[in-house]
Amino acid sequence: MSNQSSKRGEATSAVHAGELRQQEANAITTPIYQTSTFWFENSQQVIDYQEGRTDREEYGRYGNPTWRAVERKLSELEGGEESVLFASGMCAATTTFMALLPVGSHLIVTSDCYRRTRQFIDQFLKRMGVEVTVIEPGSTQAFADAIVPNTTMFFTESPTNPYLRVVDVPACVEVANKHGVKVVIDSTFATPVNHRPLQDGAHLVLHSATKYLSGHNDLLAGTLTGDSHVIDVVRKALGVLGGIIDSHGAWLLLRGLKTLAIRMRSHNANGQAVAEYLEKHPKVRKVWYPGLASHPDHEVATRQMLGFGGVVTFEIETDLDGAIRFVDATRIPYQAPSLGGVESLIELPVTMSFWDYPKKERQKLGITDSLVRFACGIEDQNDLIADLEQALDNV
Ligand SMILES: *Cc1c(COP(=O)(O)O)cnc(C)c1O
Repeated sequence: MSNQSSKRGEATSAVHAGELRQQEANAITTPIYQTSTFWFENSQQVIDYQEGRTDREEYGRYGNPTWRAVERKLSELEGGEESVLFASGMCAATTTFMALLPVGSHLIVTSDCYRRTRQFIDQFLKRMGVEVTVIEPGSTQAFADAIVPNTTMFFTESPTNPYLRVVDVPACVEVANKHGVKVVIDSTFATPVNHRPLQDGAHLVLHSATKYLSGHNDLLAGTLTGDSHVIDVVRKALGVLGGIIDSHGAWLLLRGLKTLAIRMRSHNANGQAVAEYLEKHPKVRKVWYPGLASHPDHEVATRQMLGFGGVVTFEIETDLDGAIRFVDATRIPYQAPSLGGVESLIELPVTMSFWDYPKKERQKLGITDSLVRFACGIEDQNDLIADLEQALDNV
């Protein structure tokens, strides 16, 4: 039916996986199934479906053939049994937490974390009777020490935002499996091109598909991939909670995924080149990029990842005014939150995602006034570096 094969390369999978070759009118691409429901020809079909004798669609909140193509493509790319789509990355995270964390369970998370995920944990999960322990990324020992008898899940990004810390997934999985703890990796910053957490033993891999997976700064989506019996539980929760992607969004994601492999090669090359350039610049105090030997997790990253992505975080030798002058002087990147699209984006965490944090809180997290997050797009390397050069002249 679909072109499934686990042996083929990632670029081939990105293009062909999940697509049904035989489409209406021999079309090449998967249609956008713009329908809210699916009809049955007679009551016997309804009963056959209810009793699991036929596999088909029923109602729009439970799925649609356009989603299925994306789910199959993603499952092959991640090397997992099954995938499920959501309206956004946040929806993927919140639905997963609510589906898999019972009252009285214990969750371990890393400190460097997408701030809305952190907010959900603090504002909602705790109220729902889930205990939470926050650990520093980069230490398997800290993870092992945080495990208690009711620990159910370890949730972490890898690489993290904004410091691009890389978690040693095989080492954490080894510890987790001894205690029946599920390891869930938010792999948004890596993508299956750079790291496949499931192949390192992680139980679930989550994405904000808004970023690299869709890749064009034109849609919001989330995904979760893992073993069918776990994905089933989350999918059922999604059917109740209702945070579903619409079929046009799913189709855009399907289209974006086809170029994932070639886009990531460009993001990786740009990220590495920009990080190396910035590290040598006298006005740059510090650069965080896993592909640099100076990064605290460089060794783990090199072992675990095939590339290090397009996001480079750095601190300029200046104050807030100087940092603002720098960012405002850049010409190629858009000043905007997000990352992973073909267009480069730049932001000062202090004026963007951490604006409403008290200064003390920010400092505790290391978010200084001159910290910059540069998310390289797929433009020409030399142009990006020349633009950074002229912008740094304003500092
Ligand atoms: C953007 C992001 C999210 C949230 O995803 P949305 O699609 O914006 O809801 C979660 N985790 C990471 C690492 C992200 O970068």
